[in-house]
Amino acid sequence: MKLLLRNAKYILTLDPQRRILTNGSISIDEGRITDVGKSDDVLARQKGEQFERVIDCSRRLLMPGLINTHAHLHENLVKGLFPDNIDTTTWTLEWAYPYFHTIEPRDEYASALLTSLEMLRSGTTSFIESGVEYMKEALEAVKKVGIRAALSRLAMDRPPLNPPHTWPTDLVDKLYYDSAEKALADQETAIRLCKEEGTDRTIGWVALIGKRTCTKELYVGALELSQRLGVGYHFHMASSLEEAVATEKEVGCWPITFLENIGALGDNAVIAHAVALKDDEIDILRRRGVKISHCPGSALKLAKGMTKIGKFPEMLDAGITVGLGCDGACSSGSMDMVREMYLAATVHGDARMKASTIGAETAVEMATIHGARAMGLDNEIGSLEVGKKADMIAFNLQQISLTPQHDIVSNLVFSSNGQNVDTVLVDGEELVVDGKIVTVDVQEVIEETLIRAPEVARRASLTRDSRWPVS
Ligand SMILES: [Zn+2]
Repeated sequence: MKLLLRNAKYILTLDPQRRILTNGSISIDEGRITDVGKSDDVLARQKGEQFERVIDCSRRLLMPGLINTHAHLHENLVKGLFPDNIDTTTWTLEWAYPYFHTIEPRDEYASALLTSLEMLRSGTTSFIESGVEYMKEALEAVKKVGIRAALSRLAMDRPPLNPPHTWPTDLVDKLYYDSAEKALADQETAIRLCKEEGTDRTIGWVALIGKRTCTKELYVGALELSQRLGVGYHFHMASSLEEAVATEKEVGCWPITFLENIGALGDNAVIAHAVALKDDEIDILRRRGVKISHCPGSALKLAKGMTKIGKFPEMLDAGITVGLGCDGACSSGSMDMVREMYLAATVHGDARMKASTIGAETAVEMATIHGARAMGLDNEIGSLEVGKKADMIAFNLQQISLTPQHDIVSNLVFSSNGQNVDTVLVDGEELVVDGKIVTVDVQEVIEETLIRAPEVARRASLTRDSRWPVS
């Protein structure tokens, strides 16, 4: 289909020169960008072309679709259920794992649908998943929504020595593999399923829960498997000071050094969080070409120590790819990548009492071109350039919060949110039109979630007591 987005008030190209075009236009054919430039130039070059659809963008900002480099599809059914005042270990062991243990394929599908819709509606066109339990159902939901995704299956093979006494007796058997070999075989099966039943927009990746839940054999085997299959390798690591200290007690070093020592780091690895790093570990990540998914929203909500010990500006200075991620809807509270841009642009400057740290332009790069690099797709997405896939979004600028516009990048990061997005294209296909998702009946999904979410909480015996009286 030939498509013309014309007369955009602004286009953030994110091309190598980082050009911002005023009154710009973009033409698309067969899902790829065929022209981008000032409107007069594009219209002159495209003269005589027959466009099947022309979208007026005179009140819009066009930019590449946002790329969420760390997203949990199955967390959305428990958004708001886990207490806000618990640390990462309590959150994971006493709340998340009992929930994971409980969910059934139909829950996976419902949560994946809701999460994909939340991302798409707020301007995310691609994401890296962090490990589902039921790949078939997750894949179905993602395909239905039309968003681009790297999907993976959840894996861990090292249960805690002293699990919480509240764990159901079969939780360990259900969530943990009893050997790295079995975990890797299931990973390969899940990747094959994605290949056989997926689309051009979906790819299977290797993923581990990571942190202290996996054996050395599983870390090293996962890297080898991903390299053999030519896919990415994604896991949580160095997520908090608490984890780093516990790792040091056990193996004598912090988590990134541990991974380096066992040979588990490669240039296709994307590590989520990486909050607890020592200075020399930045160099390890740089040398190995490891990509980082920085998730400021969940780090703040779970009090991981990001503002106190995080070294994200230093990683960027070292030339490391640092994408942004929302983590799960339960751990961060939101799948809105615009919010993550705002946090990345602000919290590190505050921690160092230096306002020039990171800033708006770098935050936008992290959410787009860095994300594309993390996915291994920077030749295809992450910027608006001729030949790239037409994954792009438009912000409606005709709003109080976005008026006036002295600096459009500043507006985008500090004065906007994902609900200001009113158009989303993936492969040149319009998935959000005038703020409405066109691939799925959203109202139906909301109604279904409102029934299913309390049901799954009940089955998992998870209840949250309000600190204020509810009558
Ligand atoms: Zn996560």
